[in-house]
Amino acid sequence: MSFEALHRHQRQLENCSRCDDMRGPVIVGTPVLSPVLLIGQAPGSKEGQMGKPFAWTAGRTLFKWFRQIGLDEVRFRQRVYMAAVCRCFPGKAGGGGDRVPNAREIANCSHWLDREFDLLKPTLIIPVGKLAIAQLMAVDTLAEVIGRKHEFKRKDFSAEIIPLPHPSGASAWHKTPPGNHLLQAALSLIAAHPAWRTIR
Ligand code: SF4
Repeated sequence: MSFEALHRHQRQLENCSRCDDMRGPVIVGTPVLSPVLLIGQAPGSKEGQMGKPFAWTAGRTLFKWFRQIGLDEVRFRQRVYMAAVCRCFPGKAGGGGDRVPNAREIANCSHWLDREFDLLKPTLIIPVGKLAIAQLMAVDTLAEVIGRKHEFKRKDFSAEIIPLPHPSGASAWHKTPPGNHLLQAALSLIAAHPAWRTIR
């Protein structure tokens, strides 16, 4: 893998305008050649002005979790490649929360994630929230998949998936049983993973 190729990929991604209903700018993380790939859902309304993923309240919770297992926010951003199912803010839904990206938008943006798999060939993938998990494996309930490792195979590499719940304040799943216990189990699995140990 090469830093130049990853950098070039991000410059192309930043110029993407495939989805009519998405609101730019395209949000990308640090172009870090990492064995650990985090996949979020989509940026919220604040990430555009902050210019980075997970820059607001959900990010505060997410980085608190990772701080527990040895990486604070600054070091996390320097050492983990941060991707997402969609890289633009989808706008607000009728009820006031963020709109969930539709199937066409997810398909449009999967091209960029596929390219990142090719460039990085990660050995640990951390999808955050059900939409991100569902891009990698079948998921019915979070309780069935969180707190466990799952295999991920592509034609030229394999990885382990350790999913996390979404840290959004809109969901209480990670704060109450069994979600809080499963979250801690997932963080322990990440902390013990060889890829995580190499970036700490
Ligand atoms: S969501 Fe993804 S595919 Fe759609 S415009 Fe943004 S970067 Fe492009």
